Amino acid sequence: MALQEFDIIRRFFTDIGPADDGLGAIGDDCATLDIPAGFSLQVSVDTLNADVHFPATAPAELIATRAFACCVSDLAAAGAKPWCFTLALSLPEAQESWLSAFARGLQRAASASGARLVGGDTTRGPLALTLQVMGLAATGAALRRGGAVVADDIWLTGETGLARAALELPVLASPAAASDEQRCYLDAYYRPRPVHGFAHAIAGCVSAAVDISDGLLADLQHVLAASRCGATIDVKALPVHSQLRDDFGEQRALDFALAGGDDYQLLLTAPTSSAATLEAQADRLGIKLTRIGEITEGDGVNLKHLPKGVALPARAGYQHFAADADA
Ligand code: ADP
Ligand code: MG
Repeated sequence: MALQEFDIIRRFFTDIGPADDGLGAIGDDCATLDIPAGFSLQVSVDTLNADVHFPATAPAELIATRAFACCVSDLAAAGAKPWCFTLALSLPEAQESWLSAFARGLQRAASASGARLVGGDTTRGPLALTLQVMGLAATGAALRRGGAVVADDIWLTGETGLARAALELPVLASPAAASDEQRCYLDAYYRPRPVHGFAHAIAGCVSAAVDISDGLLADLQHVLAASRCGATIDVKALPVHSQLRDDFGEQRALDFALAGGDDYQLLLTAPTSSAATLEAQADRLGIKLTRIGEITEGDGVNLKHLPKGVALPARAGYQHFAADADA
């Protein structure tokens, strides 16, 4: 018998995330959240549409891990600890195998982050997911885009460019068929690992933060606009995986790294006096952290050490309503 809306909710979505620690069960009209004293709630919502944000025919488990990571990455950018989330799921059909793989991926990602599913909506329609994520930051301690100050260092976690390169692979929708060399691109695309533990730990010594979901340059611009300053980025210092250069050449590797997006790494600015603490915390948590430039006066990005013969990316990042947004 076909699965009905309430069977779906009961079978797949009532126990997602870490064990219920007082958030309450799914099933009421509203989830009730008592925010612990001394914390403020950080909330962010994102929609992922099939064939815009992921291939519709990709394995459901990976659609879930990608969707969750994309959304919870905003909590990392706020320095917030993931707490709970809601899921609005639009499905063309209720297929048991798809739902069970999707729930498995969601369970893994949610449990790893510490966020529990507290409610949602399940409807029939083109495949799309909307996740609202909620995290906790000590009152007054949430990271913002607008705090960068001239002479601050600019730091980047992880590596940049790998997820964008995955979009070039014919195996994007069928990762099981990927070669060993292609796996690092698909992993970056389907299983981003937002660094919320790190962001939470260093929130006190950072002046501004943003996750580079739309592309390093585009998201850096958001920090610069909000902070009213400029930046110099040392292209030679960018953490670009050597395989990316080998497989795609210097120009495209740099395009992907600077303007690709989908990396879900954090770009941070911090006074130079914070450098040792940032590096020690990154080391402690096994997170790669690279100083890629500094905040300057002015209002634009100056790229230094651009390799000879390599041009600037044609655009800074992904925009949904650009004329060529399907690129
Ligand atoms: P209502 O019609 O009152 O909005 P629904 O019938 O849509 O409620 O949902 C019933 C319950 O199941 C609610 O508690 C809702 O939060 C939860 N729910 C529905 N879909 C999902 C989902 N995809 N994930 C988690 N909880 C869900
Ligand atoms: Mg409903």
